[in-house]
Amino acid sequence: MKTVSGFERIGEENAFAVLARAGELAAGGMDVINLGIGQPDFPTPENIVEAAVKALRDGHHGYTPATGLPALREAVAADLHKRFSVEVSPDRVLVVPGGKVTMFTAILMFGEPGVEIMYPDPGFPIYRSMIEYTGATPVPIPIREENGFAFSAQETLGLITDRTRLMIVNSPANPCGGVTPKAEIDTLVAGLEDWPELAIMSDEIYDQMLYDGEAHVSLLSYPSIRDRLILLNGWSKTYAMTGWRMGYSVWPDGLYENARKLAVNAWSCVNAPAQFAAIEALTGPQDAVAAMVAEFDARRLLVVELLNDLPGVSSIVPKGAFYAFPNISGTGLGAKALASDLLEKTGVATIGGPDFGILGEGYIRLSYANSQDNIRAALGRMKVFLEG
Ligand code: PLP
Repeated sequence: MKTVSGFERIGEENAFAVLARAGELAAGGMDVINLGIGQPDFPTPENIVEAAVKALRDGHHGYTPATGLPALREAVAADLHKRFSVEVSPDRVLVVPGGKVTMFTAILMFGEPGVEIMYPDPGFPIYRSMIEYTGATPVPIPIREENGFAFSAQETLGLITDRTRLMIVNSPANPCGGVTPKAEIDTLVAGLEDWPELAIMSDEIYDQMLYDGEAHVSLLSYPSIRDRLILLNGWSKTYAMTGWRMGYSVWPDGLYENARKLAVNAWSCVNAPAQFAAIEALTGPQDAVAAMVAEFDARRLLVVELLNDLPGVSSIVPKGAFYAFPNISGTGLGAKALASDLLEKTGVATIGGPDFGILGEGYIRLSYANSQDNIRAALGRMKVFLEG
């Protein structure tokens, strides 16, 4: 059979391969500690689960509008207003089956041979994979340790050309845990005024996972780019709902119709009871989120302290998300080889930095979405391995 071209260029997310391998090793009797996959280890808060169960019992089993339940789109707009004082029309909110779907949709909308799409490197691997799938040229925005893993506005602006159609930015960021300071975002947005045709997709899925008193700066707060800004966000991380597949995007006037049509063609609507749960997540008590973030904060400090005690390893203190991205170049080992050895020989799952881009060589990613006891045990095993 002959399919159209493009599939030879499409990539993957290695975190899922590591998850599968960790499962195999565990099934074979190995005591595996998973610091690989990026998902909260907390249960979805009870009030949210109950809202989904109630919705099913109340008979909400059918299709909803393709864009999402009106009450949910209103709740999203109200939440964005409450947190960032921005006006968002519920008519520009699209409910999607997971945050990933927004990047898939946006990249499909802009990518084709001959155009350039900018994306962070190291960054979420699906950006590059989808850009390459469309035939567009991926242009990496370097994310450097010496910048605290924030992007540099000047460097980013310098990479724009007449062919650039879409710029993807992500803060707080996966995989490095970097948070780009407001001053840097101000400079980026000011520079973007010289490129009025360029669309921006801001991936803000970790916007509540912030530490050290950092406040989230949403790109929605900048009126000069609102007519070409796509916001990616969702429930997966904040409400421990990765498997529910609940995300949302905010689209500018000129793009919303296209996004809605893609939704109708691809998924019709998002799971109805999950949408009721998502309303409860946004409008119900937020204490579970605060408790989860406080625990992540404690783990963050623990993991960094233990990483800096390993031979050949150093880690800056990440300010957001739930990942540490230690520099392992002092071990003399390649990052992918080290991640593989750690899993196969010590049962500790991590992800090699190169799985997030070329600039990821010399680093590994650890997700600290695991208990403090498991983090201590995992880092203890890593120490024995590296000293041995
Ligand atoms: N964006 C970033 C930066 C992520 O790290 C992830 C998940 O790991 C996503 C988007 C996708 O989230 P979802 O699971 O809701 O599709």
